[in-house]
This record gives sequence, structure tokens and C-alpha cells, in this order.
Amino acid sequence: MEPDHTTASPADFRRRLLGWYRRRKRDLPWRRTSDPYAIWISEIMLQQTTVGAVIPHYKRWLKTFPGVGALAAAPLRKVLKAWEGLGYYARARNLHAAAKVFVKRYGRRIPDHYETLRSIPGFGPYTAAAVLSLAFGKPVPVLEANVRRVMMRLLGLHGRADGRHDKAISARLEALIARRSPGDFNQAMMELGALVCRARSPLCAACPIHAFCAAFAAGEQEIIPHPKKVSYRKIEAVVAIIEDGRRILIQKRPETGLLAGLWEFPGGKMRPGESRRQALVREVREETGAEISAPRFFLTVDHSYTKFQVKLHAFRCGLKTAPEKRGGARLRWVRLRDLGAYPSPSGSAKIIRRLENEAGISGARP
Ligand code: SF4
Repeated sequence: MEPDHTTASPADFRRRLLGWYRRRKRDLPWRRTSDPYAIWISEIMLQQTTVGAVIPHYKRWLKTFPGVGALAAAPLRKVLKAWEGLGYYARARNLHAAAKVFVKRYGRRIPDHYETLRSIPGFGPYTAAAVLSLAFGKPVPVLEANVRRVMMRLLGLHGRADGRHDKAISARLEALIARRSPGDFNQAMMELGALVCRARSPLCAACPIHAFCAAFAAGEQEIIPHPKKVSYRKIEAVVAIIEDGRRILIQKRPETGLLAGLWEFPGGKMRPGESRRQALVREVREETGAEISAPRFFLTVDHSYTKFQVKLHAFRCGLKTAPEKRGGARLRWVRLRDLGAYPSPSGSAKIIRRLENEAGISGARP
């Protein structure tokens, strides 16, 4: 007889979930290892980024920084460069800072204790739980977006998936988690959310735990959780690719705030009523003190950040007057072939790739 969601036993739930996971799980590189370092890197990369996008980054990263020691010893610029394309650069800075702590305080080992991990840069509750369960086999449930959605539906909890039910969900997960294979249990819950209990159009007929699901029993799987409104701010900006013979002018962003410490082309947001060229002349003058000459449109790139979408119009140009010293060390003239070595925001990186392609430069990027 099929169990129902009101009488289901944790053992039965686990058996069905884990059986499904072992048959259906995707073969992903970080699932072939129990190395805490590799698992930690994969978990940080997977936050807010798709599996497909992470795989090549993960493989490259492990070649560049094969362990905690190599990561701790690398200069920050190299770490940020290797992170390029994954966004949220604070995560790369935290990886670097945490690696230094592991080397200095823990003999290059990643500790297997929850409170200790939580005291280390970048180890929130999710990352600590993932590393402890996947690498060390500790029964600590992970609670991330996929698991939250699955559990809200399983328990029939209405409202937005904004953390308001996390206490109840955590208590239920504590009771459900498999003591013998907690890593597989956590992976199975996340995999179920990614493949079956999807945000839209969940595949309930193929779900191994539908008999346990309150939302399914009530026909409410499409309205739990309630959708959240996403509103992106749209920004239009211009940047100048200022060329002086064989070199291009780039500038470093401030060390704090959005995209901290990354390198980009001078430019900025257009003001209402301004033409692209007017904005370009004004922005370059404000940022560098230089006057540009003969701006020629090069390309437009679109990029989405967490809360805004940017349309970036790039112009190639020369100089009428040189940049002033007021930019100090923030400004740098760089040969095109060396531009790829500077960590830059995704919009600028797209422009650099196009410049490299047009100049027949390849292999400059990691
Ligand atoms: S039955 Fe449907 S809503 Fe419930 S957990 Fe499975 S896929 Fe999600």
C-alpha cells in the first residue's frame, strides 16, 4: 500500500528518495570525489550559477589551484581572474581568505566541525552543511533554494520561499536525514528540486516521494511556494576603449563595493536626455581627466547582474589630451594581448573577447 503524507515514516521516505537518486543522479565531476577541498570549491561555484556553467570552471580551477595550499599561496589577482565568468566576486575573495586560514590555523586541512567552519570567511550555514555531509559524512541537512521548495511542497507550507518557514523545514529535515549516507540524502534532495520538483511545472508523476507530498495531495504544487516578484533595474552605460598605439587604457574599480577591485574600461551610466557620445565624453573626462577623440561605435553587450540589467555600448577612440594623474594607480595602459590577464566584470570581459578575436589573439584567457 502507498503511504500517505500524514502517516509516512522517515525510513520509507529515505528509501524511496535515495533509490531514485542512485538510479537517476547526474554524473557530475564533484560527485566523483570525497576531497573536502574539491567539494567546497564546487559548492561555492554552484551558488547562483548553473551546473553547466560551473563544470568547465571547476575543472580549470582544480588544475590552477589543486589544493588549499596552492590557493592560499596565489595572488588575489590570479584568484579573481580564475573566477571570471562566475560573478559575485566576494565568493572568490572569501575562498582565498578561507584557504589562508586553513593553511595558517589548521595545517592545510578543512576542519570537520560545524561551528569552526562557520567562523571561516564564506562558510554560511549552507556551505558548512554541504561540506560536512558530502565530504565528512556528518548528518547535517542542507537547506538551499531547491530543498526549500521541495520541503515547502512536501509539508504544504504556503507563502513565498523567503526563509519564513526555515525553522520548521530544518526541524523536519533533521528527522528525515539519512544517518548512514547524509551526503547522498542532501544531494538527493537538491537533485530532486533541480530535476523533478522544479520551480515551474513540477513532474509529480515521476516523483519518487509524491506519496509523501501534502501539496500534491491537495493539488497545490503549482501555487507553493508563491512566486516572488523579480524586478530588474535597467541601466544603459557607455565605455571607451581608448587606444594609444598598441596599448589600451583600463581602470581599477574601488577595493570595496560592487565588483570591487576588478578592471574595466573608463565609462559609466548615461544620464536622461544624453546621447551615447555625450555620455562617453563626459564619463571619460570625469573619471580620467582625458579628452577623447574620434569615437567609433564598436559593439553593445547585454549583461544581467543580481538586481539590474546593463546595456553596455562600447566605443573605440583616441585621445586629444592625456589622462590626468588624479586617477593615480587606478589607471593603467595595457597591451591588448595582456588584457586577458586582468580580472574584469562580465560586460567588460565580453568586449575584451571581441577585441581579441578581431586581433586574432587566442588563448589569452584561462
Ligand atoms: S509530488 Fe510534486 S510537488 Fe511534491 S515533491 Fe514531488 S514533484 Fe514536488
